[in-house]
Amino acid sequence: MTDNGRSAWGNASLQSIKVDGSCVDVPFHWYNVTYHLPEPLPPVLDPKVGPSRIELRQRMMPRALQRQDTETQEWLDIPGEVREKYAQLGRPTPLQRATALEAYLETPAHIYYKREDVFPTGSFKMNSAIPQAYYARQEGYAGLVSQTGAGQWGSGLTLGCRMFGLRCIIYMARVSFFQKPYRRIHMQLLGGEVYPSPSERTEAGRKMLAEHPDHPGSVNSGISEAFETAMSEEGFAYVTGSNSNHTLIHNTVIGLESRLQLEVLDEAPDQLIACVGGGSNLGGLMLPFLSDRLQTGRPRLLAAESAAAPRLTQGEYRYDSGDPAGLTPLIKTYTLGSDFIPPVNHVGGLRQHGGSPLVSLLKHIGLLEARAYGEKDALEAGHLFARLEGVVPAPETSHAIRAAIEEALDAKRLREKRVMVIGFSGHGLLDLGGYEQVLFPAQAASLS
Ligand SMILES: *Cc1c(COP(=O)(O)O)cnc(C)c1O
Repeated sequence: MTDNGRSAWGNASLQSIKVDGSCVDVPFHWYNVTYHLPEPLPPVLDPKVGPSRIELRQRMMPRALQRQDTETQEWLDIPGEVREKYAQLGRPTPLQRATALEAYLETPAHIYYKREDVFPTGSFKMNSAIPQAYYARQEGYAGLVSQTGAGQWGSGLTLGCRMFGLRCIIYMARVSFFQKPYRRIHMQLLGGEVYPSPSERTEAGRKMLAEHPDHPGSVNSGISEAFETAMSEEGFAYVTGSNSNHTLIHNTVIGLESRLQLEVLDEAPDQLIACVGGGSNLGGLMLPFLSDRLQTGRPRLLAAESAAAPRLTQGEYRYDSGDPAGLTPLIKTYTLGSDFIPPVNHVGGLRQHGGSPLVSLLKHIGLLEARAYGEKDALEAGHLFARLEGVVPAPETSHAIRAAIEEALDAKRLREKRVMVIGFSGHGLLDLGGYEQVLFPAQAASLS
């Protein structure tokens, strides 16, 4: 990296601001990895036939976010008001060492976890929800509409909208709407308007229900409905919590803080591990380390996905639609096909057919390794982690923990001191029902 680059890393993390009388270290810039990619990112495209999906998106998304999607500058200023909200809600987040887990595994590895669960909504989703609401308000919108799979993006966006005085409409996968009532209630308490998707509220929803009356819904069915609402309701813009470059960019505060925290601890990371759905927490943690990886071969990057939607390990790398209704532009991604309906399980945040073009490119050029885990294997790892470290991971996060345990045992076999960082994407305190059903099925059955 250039000298300029080096000083920019420092600037990004070291300066402090005063917020409500307390001094906090929140990065001044987001990091835009496209500057350092060894291959250009394949652009989004329109299908050869039919109306332009790119124009549709241009009409309904805040312009600042669209600009960030194609931004080539390396560092992007974080607006002052966004930094204040970051600080108010918990940034910088702790980087914690899992010493009890290390002792239990008798591994020479150092296992760190970056605690994105400390946000009031329990996951990293606020990192992008805050700037998205900020830019929407700047551009004069009255409200935002989006979809949520398991509910974490929905509660994050609802709170983001609250903070900037916007209305918020959320389509929540039908399966989660009923399986995770607390997420829905949480959104409603924060002032969100929440509907189960597919719903009777939109044409796209009515069509899906006609074809599959028991349609469990997914992130993607919500996309179709949210699009329709953004086009038909006055003053509403559409936004999304994953896949898009701008979402990954906003989440780079995770990796930028981790870099600095590791530096202070005098540790050089050998491996970064994160779970992957739309790719935003993984990208947020890993992208700020990519130039190190390209220069030194370290850290190694490992993605943990759900065996219920194994697109990185079993999908094809090609252009595909981001949603089943064929409304979003074509993106080049690892995909299981846009008609793939993932089986019902408790890891809503990882249930989708495709993902981030940036994360897919990293996998395609061999910089990112991927493994898929079944729900039970993942939740058992989460259970172990909770007993040893005292924090219940989100079911999604448990996939990363499962991978980290395997790697820590590998380090033990090789007698290798290995410094690992897990992206601890969220807590599981609203997913306890899922843990019970998978880990204690007899108890769950006898009580229901
Ligand atoms: C949303 C979510 C995920 C998956 O989303 P990505 O875009 O892949 O990061 C993982 N873990 C938690 C806790 C989530 O809320």
